[in-house]
Amino acid sequence: MKEIASPSTTQYILDKYNLFPQKKYGQNFLIDKTIVEKIVAQAHIDRQCAVIEIGPGIGALTQILAKYAGYVRSFEIDQRFQPVYDEFFKTEDVEIVFEDFLKADMKDMESLKDQYQRLVVVANLPYYITSQIIEKIVTESHLIDEIVVMIQKEVALKFTSDYKNPLLLSIQDRGTIEYLFTVSKNVFIPAPHVDSAIIKIELHRDFDEHLYKVLNLSFQQRRKTIYNNLKKEYENIEDILKKAEIDPRSRCEQLNLENYKDITRMLY
Ligand code: SAM
Repeated sequence: MKEIASPSTTQYILDKYNLFPQKKYGQNFLIDKTIVEKIVAQAHIDRQCAVIEIGPGIGALTQILAKYAGYVRSFEIDQRFQPVYDEFFKTEDVEIVFEDFLKADMKDMESLKDQYQRLVVVANLPYYITSQIIEKIVTESHLIDEIVVMIQKEVALKFTSDYKNPLLLSIQDRGTIEYLFTVSKNVFIPAPHVDSAIIKIELHRDFDEHLYKVLNLSFQQRRKTIYNNLKKEYENIEDILKKAEIDPRSRCEQLNLENYKDITRMLY
């Protein structure tokens, strides 16, 4: 079968089915097989593994995922790709779901864990909703083991820096986040304006919704003190900050994850 991730096959598919990439859906198609293999290798996929993909597009990544995984479920918002899937993915091990991933039921996906040892997300994400997708996975899933995704390079650098926000602190609480490698903008059709990068998030621990609530409230207004951000919701916050030996005049960025976990433990 033809490798989709090549300039000639991608152009052939786009021409054959009269598909023009839609900017509003962040459609940039990977045309370099070596990069696709490299991404998939990072997720250590085998037949014991079910993969969730967001945005298969014309299937460059899906095809290689299907080569190694036990099962692939891919969520795509754009129904124009149906004839491409009919041509390339007749196998029962690939399921394409036409749905906005942000509206998809995470519990439904997690039932795949009944049959497969590992559940991983691998995707070349649509950049306009990168953070929302990662947030959904980190805050709504309990059984996903790992996320390997391509995102904009500058976002990847921010995600793996010391920058703090509720999502990144929650990821830190659940596991680890790592910058794997940079991907040139020249391996896509059409080429985006900026380079991309692959990040890996390993989720080892359960999501803590109380911690996430405290983080969201604390970061509501970055310029306010921690005391001012939390006092409306928690009447006893002054005492708790004192017990946790945290200066109530601190700003949200000055506290570390352990500080937030201490506050949460005392509040709940
Ligand atoms: N995986 C393909 C590749 O690597 O060549 C395409 C990746 S392209 C960057 C992003 C894909 O996400 C597009 O196919 C786009 O239609 C799809 N997409 C955009 N918004 C989506 C959403 N809310 N839910 C599911 N898929 C979405």
